[in-house]
Amino acid sequence: MAVKDYEAVIGLEIHVELLTESKMFCGSAVTFGEEPNTHTCPICLGLPGTLPVTNKKAIEYITMIGLALNCKINPISQFHRKNYFYPDMPKDYQISQYDIPVASNGFLDVELDGGERRVRILRAHIEEDTGKLLHESKSGRLHEAKYSLVDFNRAGTPLAETVTEPDIRSAEQAVAFVSQLRSIVQHLGVSDGNMEEGSLRVDANISLRPVGSNEFGVKAEVKNMNSFRSLKKALNFEIERQEELLRNGGEVHQETRHWDEKLGRTTTLRRKEEVQDYRYFPDPDLVPFNLTEDYVEEIRSKLPELPKDRKKRFIEEYGLPAHDARVLTQSKAVGDYFDEAVKLYKKDPKNVSNWIIGEFSYHLKNANLEIDESAITPKHLVNLLNLIDKKTISGKIAKEVFDEMFNTGKLPDIIVEEKQLVQIVDESEIEKIVDAVLEENAQAVEDLKSGKEKALGFLVGQVMRFSKGKANPEIVNRLIKKKI
Ligand code: ADP
Ligand code: MG
Repeated sequence: MAVKDYEAVIGLEIHVELLTESKMFCGSAVTFGEEPNTHTCPICLGLPGTLPVTNKKAIEYITMIGLALNCKINPISQFHRKNYFYPDMPKDYQISQYDIPVASNGFLDVELDGGERRVRILRAHIEEDTGKLLHESKSGRLHEAKYSLVDFNRAGTPLAETVTEPDIRSAEQAVAFVSQLRSIVQHLGVSDGNMEEGSLRVDANISLRPVGSNEFGVKAEVKNMNSFRSLKKALNFEIERQEELLRNGGEVHQETRHWDEKLGRTTTLRRKEEVQDYRYFPDPDLVPFNLTEDYVEEIRSKLPELPKDRKKRFIEEYGLPAHDARVLTQSKAVGDYFDEAVKLYKKDPKNVSNWIIGEFSYHLKNANLEIDESAITPKHLVNLLNLIDKKTISGKIAKEVFDEMFNTGKLPDIIVEEKQLVQIVDESEIEKIVDAVLEENAQAVEDLKSGKEKALGFLVGQVMRFSKGKANPEIVNRLIKKKI
């Protein structure tokens, strides 16, 4: 029997914490990393007799997200109670939305290097976040802990949840989708979308089916991916796990699985609840709310530039290739940086792009920094480009200067002066070094005379080495050729 080929089917549920000043239903401040249990009140602690009051800003933000995802904004919307017991949730129910979310039936066109894929959005709704549990064990996991601590600072923070249709077919597509959604919420200014800090959290639903089949298989849900890298690894692991199971005649269980970053695998967390387990019912403390056409249109008219518009502008206004424009709009901070730098260096936007996408990204990745956390401001970068243009320094030295400014935050002008890196363009000075190198490398000179072109590179390299990289390479080349 031929081996079946399987296709992955993936749907994502993405939560983003909204950047409102106060929580979803009370006046406690939304904070991150503060002393535990210092930003709470009787409402977000779920004390009896308190009443929630809806945060207007949070409704505005979820409406903006809905519109940016091409959703229909429902004129009447409602809060439901999702009932379950867990110690991070003081009320024993979470205020969420159920059958009438704020937004539904949208889509996002996800761009990949190989083309575009439309992912339909089932819904985008608003809910409140839970508190945080700290399990006192080495692994930080519950089953090894003697006790757990609970911090309610996060409890009640507004969360926007976006749910996709199962339209995603690979880990790469999932990463591209999340990356684009993250850039959208950043551009909207409604969330910082930081996966590492947990302000953007992805639950991935994955199933497999034989290629050509129209039916969906049983899915598993995977949680706890804290970066794009781990999202990709977790999805690929889960796809392989299910494939092996199915190939060996086993079956996938409907369950929630935990991605273990250290072990590089997913493990069973719990058998998945069914929707009826939650006993959803309308929250009697919160009446349905009305989002009128006027309200929605006003928000639509005030939407800021979104990543796709920005990308278009980068292509049309700055003449960038589509690939560059896409990379530069993957996060708001990078787009802002590019815009700022080009303002200072209008003559060649592509040059700015090359440095950001190349050298700069490489350094940021190694240092695990975002562009706006780096000491290199647009002014620094443009200073460097100008030094190269004026031939004050060579391209090779520029990389050295870049390194130094990345580590110290000094301006290139200062670094070049302090380290005396100015390029040598004085021919007589270079000639002295060339003469010395030719004398010392008789063999290479012979090789070059007999037509071995490789010897030229070697000799140029030697001159560059003796000049500590400062000799102008074109002059070096010319002089060597002249002398042989
Ligand atoms: P549940 O009730 O189990 O939470 P939902 O219908 O609410 O399931 O869907 C949750 C997410 O799972 C959605 O993103 C949806 O696209 C995705 N999904 C649903 N069925 C499948 C499937 N068979 N395989 C992969 N993903 C699925
Ligand atoms: Mg669900």
